[in-house]
Amino acid sequence: MRIALFNGNRLGVVQADRIADVTEAVGWDATDAHRSLVRLISRFGELRGTIEQALAKAPTVPLSSVSLDAPVPNPSKIVAAPVNYRAHQQEMQEEFTVERLGFFLKAPSSIIGPGGTILLPYKDRRTDHEAELAFVVGKTAKDVPASQAAEYIFGYFGLMDITVRGREDRPMRKSFDTFTPIGPWIVTADEVGNPHELDIRLWVNDELRQSANTRDLIQDCYRFFETVSRVMTLYPGDIITTGTPEGVGPIQAGDRVRLEIERIGELAVGVADKS
Ligand code: MN
Repeated sequence: MRIALFNGNRLGVVQADRIADVTEAVGWDATDAHRSLVRLISRFGELRGTIEQALAKAPTVPLSSVSLDAPVPNPSKIVAAPVNYRAHQQEMQEEFTVERLGFFLKAPSSIIGPGGTILLPYKDRRTDHEAELAFVVGKTAKDVPASQAAEYIFGYFGLMDITVRGREDRPMRKSFDTFTPIGPWIVTADEVGNPHELDIRLWVNDELRQSANTRDLIQDCYRFFETVSRVMTLYPGDIITTGTPEGVGPIQAGDRVRLEIERIGELAVGVADKS
């Protein structure tokens, strides 16, 4: 199932190029979307049938006629993998990978949705795109081994880990407001199937900058889940992002950035200078 937030955090289900409004069917409160999402995720076993019944009669409209919102509006944390593809390690001439570096946190306040605009804080520093496969946690987790991690992942989506290059620590360079576009919607784990065989591509305007496959992750989704949950308790609605493959590069005002992940969809945002 493809679960979208749209037109001011209403709840929708995407089927092909149309979206159905199921806000009323599940008692979703658009004024408290993250709480509603956590409830939906936590009770999805029982609510799925309710949604499917509602879909049978819900009116649908073309996706192109609505405004999509970030599918996870306000997680308690965004946990991110540094240097999780070998070819990206080589291009950045990084000494260490995720195996040594562990993880870092991005501010949840940096999230924007599809069609949003990345605001560049500096005109004289390089700011890069990073195309990443991300997922949302499905249930409270602590000390979960990789072999069981799949049971704790609710669904997947695309994430751009926008990054100012420089010597400051990662959380500072990656947490500016607007630096975490996510979407275009959540695809539930059952529909994605194996998350470690997905083509991931990113364009800046018409130029293909990144083209890779998640099979090349150093720590795959499940192993990285183990790494993170060994340290912190993860809650339903938390975001984990798996790191970027090779091909990162600068963005500038006026660019349009598009991230496409196989079996998930396309997330597009604009770029502008801040103020
Ligand atoms: Mn990254």
